[in-house]
Amino acid sequence: MGDHIREPARKTPIRWRADVIVAGGGPAGFAAALAARRQGADVLLLERHGHLGGLATGGLVVELPSFEADGRPIIGGIGRELRDALIQRGHAAMKGDTGHCFFDPEAMKWLCARLLREAGVRVVHHVWVAGTVTDGGRVTGLLAETKQGRVAAAGDMVIDATGDGDVIASTGCEFDQAHALIGLPWRIAGIDANRAGPALAATLSSFREERAPERGWLAAMPVTTADGSLWCTNGLDVADGLDPEALSELELRGRELAFALVERLRREVPGCGSAYVSDVAPQIGVRHTRRLVGRSRVTDGDARVHDKRYPDAIGRAGGFYQVRSLTDVPYGALVPARGDGLLVAGRCVSADLWALETLRLIHACWVTGQAAGTAAAMCAESGAVPATLPYPDLRARLQAEGVAFAEG
Ligand SMILES: Cc1cc2nc3c(=O)[nH]c(=O)nc-3n(C[C@H](O)[C@H](O)[C@H](O)COP(=O)(O)OP(=O)(O)OC[C@H]3O[C@@H](n4cnc5c(N)ncnc54)[C@H](O)[C@@H]3O)c2cc1C
Repeated sequence: MGDHIREPARKTPIRWRADVIVAGGGPAGFAAALAARRQGADVLLLERHGHLGGLATGGLVVELPSFEADGRPIIGGIGRELRDALIQRGHAAMKGDTGHCFFDPEAMKWLCARLLREAGVRVVHHVWVAGTVTDGGRVTGLLAETKQGRVAAAGDMVIDATGDGDVIASTGCEFDQAHALIGLPWRIAGIDANRAGPALAATLSSFREERAPERGWLAAMPVTTADGSLWCTNGLDVADGLDPEALSELELRGRELAFALVERLRREVPGCGSAYVSDVAPQIGVRHTRRLVGRSRVTDGDARVHDKRYPDAIGRAGGFYQVRSLTDVPYGALVPARGDGLLVAGRCVSADLWALETLRLIHACWVTGQAAGTAAAMCAESGAVPATLPYPDLRARLQAEGVAFAEG
């Protein structure tokens, strides 16, 4: 048999057809699907899990960075609509005067699903995108695994919003890949904050010092999330986020840490006798894996130059804490260097690792998602290809949908 097996050729039924197919329903995929639908496209979104939101919900990444920098909005459009709707309904709250916002991940899943359904996007869960259909260098559809077997989806345009660039890889597009700090956030509930008092912060701090992973870090934020629980975000180790064995090992390590903390809180902190791990993220926190090599690339230098401008900006992005990494996001970072029919959004866009620290944040993924969705719908409508789509038209449509651009 050797090291490989040869699979027999197979005939795969086309189960879905759409103008625009979005692979992945995280922040980028959600925004891409909604944006494409709002431009009039018939949109299909395929998601492997049973919920939307990607790492923001399933990864328990519940903190949104500020939408403002230098006193001006940097995030508008779909991201702002979603955040403001969560706040308005009481499912998210601002974190003091930091400009950051904590949200309830279950509410985020629900609202994303509702918005897509109301808009008329076809969302199909429990579908694992496993390959690409191409015709003369143009992506014309996707192959996917379901419990009913392998199926295909045919479309005019495909958007890779899988976070890991699964579509990029199966299409043969050029990409970069590096190991990343991987985490497994969890939450602890059942804490009586009034009784716990300063002892809680003291125990968290000594736990962090003693148990912070050697090549990572651990942050535990007491009772500040929208639902009143303790949120523990972390980085456990640097590893290949595509390697199932490495990920399996980190799943175990993350759980060990979560239960070590909860047992210590129960023992040492008043008001924590009934504390329990309410949830461990069902999606492990892979910060990055594959990144497209696109027609343009946001680089280290760009993200450090304050307020970097691009002639083909599709919106803005700003760092977690430092407004110094404020930058335009160029359309070229969403467009593969070669091949048609495909756009990329979210944490697998074309950027080097430093710049990705900004571009992979949830609010930036909404920005690249909205732009990819809008551009894909325009291509499907006119027969244009992403590389030659008239930029002024794209910008005008994004502006009409409330996307924030730099002045001047
Ligand atoms: C531990 C950790 C802490 C973080 N902290 C913050 C923070 O505090 N604030 C912040 O803004 N950002 C933070 N981030 C970054 C942010 O959460 C992610 O970069 C962002 O969610 C990426 O969005 P995305 O849509 O590109 O990808 P993802 O959120 O990864 O979504 C991708 C979606 O595609 C689906 N998918 C993947 N492959 C397939 C496939 N083959 N077929 C079908 N579906 C597929 C996945 O199930 C998922 O729903 C953190 C990340 C980590 C890991």
